[in-house]
Amino acid sequence: MQLMWFRKDLRVSDHEALTSAMATGTTLAVFIHTPEQWRQHNVGARQQAFICSNLHHLGTALDKIGVPLLSLECQNFDDIPALLSEFCITHKIDCVHVQNEPELNEFRRDRAVASELAKIGVGFEGYQGDCVLVPGTVLNKSQQMFKVFTPFKNAWLARLAPYDYQTLATPTPQTPPSISFQPLALQEDELWPGGEQHAQQRLNRFVCGEMDNYHDRRDHPGLDATSRLSPYLALGVVSARQCVEAILKQSPTLLQNAKSEQFSWLNELIWREFYRHLLVAFPKLSMGANFNAKANKIGWNDSEEDFKAWCDGRTGYPLVDAAMMQLKRTGWMHNRLRMVVASFLTKHLLIDWRKGEQYFSEQLIDADLASNNGGWQWAASTGCDAQPYFRVFNPILQSQRFDPNGIFIRSQVQELESLSDKQIHLPDNDSRPSDYPAPIVEHKFARLRALESFKVLGKQ
Ligand code: FAD
Repeated sequence: MQLMWFRKDLRVSDHEALTSAMATGTTLAVFIHTPEQWRQHNVGARQQAFICSNLHHLGTALDKIGVPLLSLECQNFDDIPALLSEFCITHKIDCVHVQNEPELNEFRRDRAVASELAKIGVGFEGYQGDCVLVPGTVLNKSQQMFKVFTPFKNAWLARLAPYDYQTLATPTPQTPPSISFQPLALQEDELWPGGEQHAQQRLNRFVCGEMDNYHDRRDHPGLDATSRLSPYLALGVVSARQCVEAILKQSPTLLQNAKSEQFSWLNELIWREFYRHLLVAFPKLSMGANFNAKANKIGWNDSEEDFKAWCDGRTGYPLVDAAMMQLKRTGWMHNRLRMVVASFLTKHLLIDWRKGEQYFSEQLIDADLASNNGGWQWAASTGCDAQPYFRVFNPILQSQRFDPNGIFIRSQVQELESLSDKQIHLPDNDSRPSDYPAPIVEHKFARLRALESFKVLGKQ
């Protein structure tokens, strides 16, 4: 008897661990809920509900191939070795199969489980599937992880072989073991329907449609121009390999045209890989450390009032506030806006990026340590291949450039609906509605203050 332990890989197609388990013997599957660990990892209510919705769909898909999915629960990762050990004894399991995860606590958890299972003669096999190329296999000439994205991307492309993006089919059904299976109740979020089938439809629709215009339209939050696949990628409902396969099916010569506009979407998926490879190469990133140690000297502002105004979308900068409202309402935020609000929090308000990272983690349906940490440290200039410290986004210019007619702002901040296209980017004292706040900090002053505080990053 084999056991497939699902974590952030909630799909049945292109699943090496599941395929291998089922090729070895009759397979059972489990998912382990760890409420206290999720609390410690700041997994928010929205993502938790999305996990449950996807577990419902996963259970149904597994049932079709004769694999019962059982739910277990314990508080922490520390409780898992004993729990799984007991489960394996009860169900006479020979080997536990998992898809590897890049985060440090998850890595330590797996090591502890493997050693506990070894004591009772049960195997533990980890498989690739989270990234297209395995972390640790895209290295520079000194066999080190790259610290700059473009050379990483070039090496990634040079390493990529056709078998790296050949996906696996859903395994052939087995005769189900005699264990009763209770599907989880479905709690569906209208905005984010769960399930592999839905994720595949979204992928195909995007690749056959908007992908062609992605380069020109992706930075405009008022347009529905990006794939919105991030929640599905974060939980492994769709694999990165399936995305690459779909792209290359649509544009077979794309890999030879890495400088073309059509390459832009694949480029973002390679950023995803970059941050995951970094997380594995530099475990301190999983522990909240600045990538650049010089940033330890930045003096952050502890004001709870400023932080709350940012969280609540009450900074008086319309684009920032609209973005924070989008996050609160939908659990998702457009990438351009994530950059704008992260820059605003860390540079205009001088608040530690870790507070923003935590808030994002609690609110985002696509919360993912590697990309969240990478994005925050990029915006705060503390990260690997980050934004130079002297670049401070101007939230008014960003608004004029990427939401010129205020379509996005009006969709999120009702108070500003009736302002003209000119006033909407920063209403003056005469046009500002009485229920909308004045700017929390003046832009020029904030920029100079940030340059002063961040200059420790420029010192040798
Ligand atoms: P698309 O534009 O369609 O891109 C396709 C996929 O590529 C995305 O789904 C995502 O998996 C990946 N991707 C795109 N941009 C990036 C990027 N800059 N870095 C890494 N991967 C990328 N992404 C998350 O998945 N989870 C997070 O917690 C997260 N936090 C972020 C925090 C900050 C401060 C910033 C600046 C970015 C963050 N991102 C995060 C990256 C990015 O904003 C989202 O992946 C993207 O907006 C998701 O929308 P989409 O699926 O429509 O992306």
